[in-house]
Order: sequence, then C-alpha cells, then structure tokens
Amino acid sequence: MEKNLEPKTVTCRCGNPIVMTEESDWCTKCVRKVYYHEKEQRSHRWDNMYIFGVIVVVITFLAYVFLELIVTPAV
Ligand SMILES: [Zn+2]
Repeated sequence: MEKNLEPKTVTCRCGNPIVMTEESDWCTKCVRKVYYHEKEQRSHRWDNMYIFGVIVVVITFLAYVFLELIVTPAV
C-alpha cells in the first residue's frame, strides 16, 4: 500500500473533511472508512452490492429447497 501521498482533503459521507496522506483512512467523526481516491470508494460500494445480491440469491435458493423438502412429502 502506497503511503505518504500528497495531502488531500476528502469529505466524508457524514460531511467531515479529512486531510489524507494515505490510500485509506478512518473518519474521526463517524468512524467510516474513507478513501483517498474516490474511484476506489465507488468500486468498494459495488463490492458490497454484489455481496448483498449473492446473499439474496442464496437465501431465495435455500427457501425454495426448504419449501420443496417440506411440501413435497405431504402431497
Ligand atoms: Zn465521517
């Protein structure tokens, strides 16, 4: 991880400005992760959405399997 970057003021999502000299840092106000490059922050958000999507698919699949196992023998 690259360190000692040119100091840059990044505004956190809570509105707190943070002077950053590293790739990522923690907001001193809301303790969220803040990224030096805005692009990284966006791709990180997409990662979270992807994981959320996978979880939804898995839960739906498990619910389907569960219903199949419960309903089928009763018929
Ligand atoms: Zn913050």
